[in-house]
Amino acid sequence: MLPNSENMSEVELVEVARPEDNEKNERCSQPLDEVESIRDGFNIWIFLKRNAFLILTMAAVALGIGLGFALRYINMSEREITYLTFPGELLLRMLKMMVLPLVVSSIIAGISNVDRKDFGKIGLRIIIYYLVTTVVATFTGIFLAVFIKPGKSSRHASESSPAKTEDVHSLDAFLDLIRNMFPSNLVEACFRKYLTVNPSSNSSGNPIGATNISTNTPIAGTSDGINVVGLLVFSIAFGLILSSMGSEGKPLRDLFNCMNKAIMRLVSIVIWYSPVGIIFLLAGQVVKMTDAAEIGRDVGMYTLTVVTGLIIHGCVTLPLIYVIVTRKNPLRFYGGILQALSTAFGTSSSSATLPVTLRCMEENLKMDKQVTRFMLPVGATMNMDGSALYEAVAALFIAQVNDMDFNFGQIIVLSLVVTAASTGAPGIPQAGMVTMLIVLSSTGLPTEDISLLLMVDWILDRLRTATNVLGDCIGVGVVQHLSRHELQTSSPTETNLVLEENPPSKSISTKME
Ligand code: ASP
Repeated sequence: MLPNSENMSEVELVEVARPEDNEKNERCSQPLDEVESIRDGFNIWIFLKRNAFLILTMAAVALGIGLGFALRYINMSEREITYLTFPGELLLRMLKMMVLPLVVSSIIAGISNVDRKDFGKIGLRIIIYYLVTTVVATFTGIFLAVFIKPGKSSRHASESSPAKTEDVHSLDAFLDLIRNMFPSNLVEACFRKYLTVNPSSNSSGNPIGATNISTNTPIAGTSDGINVVGLLVFSIAFGLILSSMGSEGKPLRDLFNCMNKAIMRLVSIVIWYSPVGIIFLLAGQVVKMTDAAEIGRDVGMYTLTVVTGLIIHGCVTLPLIYVIVTRKNPLRFYGGILQALSTAFGTSSSSATLPVTLRCMEENLKMDKQVTRFMLPVGATMNMDGSALYEAVAALFIAQVNDMDFNFGQIIVLSLVVTAASTGAPGIPQAGMVTMLIVLSSTGLPTEDISLLLMVDWILDRLRTATNVLGDCIGVGVVQHLSRHELQTSSPTETNLVLEENPPSKSISTKME
């Protein structure tokens, strides 16, 4: 982990990522120097400083589990367990507090900074690539979680206890999603969402406004939680309009850029509290569980499922897309970006890895700067295949642990929420954990169970970040190949991506300043 890079805001990272030619090597090399200095000699203090967060998190996991087991000997009442988990509850509350400003500002800032002229044929290819790979990653995660059933690996698998099913009609769930995409009240969308409830169901939702419950007619109501799909649709539309407003839209763009920068700093600070929260959340979880080995097995299976999914996506799906589109050997490509992948693994941050990713793509693989300087900064913020896959598995894992079976309609809703949530996650460590809360609350799953995910997030975050970066790099390869004719024929004055009056340093990322 490179704390310096981690603490850098995305804006600062983008600045490093789009150096002026004459100062490129100097500025780009900063984070690289840090990585290289690790190789030069082993200094225990530097090692501890760089890995402080990782060490604290692992210590918190061990301490939380130990404390939980010790407290199991005292027969704690429900009330006492609530007091025990109080510091963990604070962590969850802080993370939830971040969700709304983080997602809205990250999407509006990300989209409004893309110059509308950039949305030519190449822009369309980029959007299609991002969308297709994120959806494929999400469905890989869903398929594996449904197939492996990590949350039912032990007791649940052997017992024949009937699963709780959400008695929500698939069509109703789908229509609710569409309704939620267009919230009638934006302020209400910040804390409530539309929910159709079947009167005979034992839905976990909390419908309000139900009047006639004596018939089988679905009742229109609302349930607690952020309407993330609605806010997302609004943010995308708003960002697109802002990007088309030129200098007129600058004040608002600056506002959202600044808000995004500030909220990311806040997240980086809150993350340092997470080891404390983890200790008490885990201790509470261990005290409450009936069979300790069962939780261990479930979490182990969950980790295995996510890792399997990331391997399939990174070693099969993405190289396959690359080979099919470019007809080139992906091994050479992987060799060129190895340093970026290991930096992503080390930093758990796509944004902190950005300078290394740019260097690998431009210097090792000689990729076109017009594409790399456009796609990589956007990809580091918005294209998160690894996070999408992880969030899909994690949501279904928590559903399985709680004996809730998702029907087809709910799985479709989950896939859309996961795709949206991963897009809204910034490229900083454990951002997926914040957006995971959106996924859980949007799908009616208990957010407290996030403690099960926190236990292993220190390693899964690293693996999914490496997959995120890999997805961005393969995207450059694919889009560059598909756009080779446009790129060849476009002179600096004509190109859609980099305009003469809008050189690299002032194109996509300029408005981030
Ligand atoms: N850490 C990831 C990244 O930077 C985001 C996440 O937590 O899912 O790409």
